[in-house]
Amino acid sequence: MPTFVDPNACNTCEGEDKGPLCVYICPNDLMKLKGDKGFNQEPNLCSECYACVKLCPTEAIRVRGYADFIPLGAEVQPRRVELGLTWTVKFRDGEVLEFTYPSRTKPVGSSIPYEGFTEDPIADLRGQTLAGESVWLGVDNLPTFASNV
Ligand code: SF4
Ligand code: SF4
Repeated sequence: MPTFVDPNACNTCEGEDKGPLCVYICPNDLMKLKGDKGFNQEPNLCSECYACVKLCPTEAIRVRGYADFIPLGAEVQPRRVELGLTWTVKFRDGEVLEFTYPSRTKPVGSSIPYEGFTEDPIADLRGQTLAGESVWLGVDNLPTFASNV
């Protein structure tokens, strides 16, 4: 089951500087605004990655729990907490359990992109290779295809 948005709970990420966070984060570019509410425009393509579910500040996005950690009929809702996520699981019999796991080592917004890299990040982004790849492969240059022209 793909994600769906509870329109009564969506506040269009009011006050968030990146705008609607589900639109910002979806790796498959599925989440859009319809009017002033988030919605999944292509449910069949949703990989249930949970990215939008975890990021939504109002917990407005629902998705089923994977069968390997949520028993049939139970509900699960993740929410962000300091340096981690809390998963609330509501079982069929009404029992509610919460599990909190660390998911990051630095406070939100404090990471510095390319910190520690010695290569020119702008040049790397403009190239056809991933930033830093040659460094991690231990070579000066990545192999290139021979040109036929
Ligand atoms: S669960 Fe993942 S793939 Fe599905 S809409 Fe949310 S971010 Fe996109
Ligand atoms: S992240 Fe949540 S509150 Fe923000 S637009 Fe999407 S559904 Fe609405």
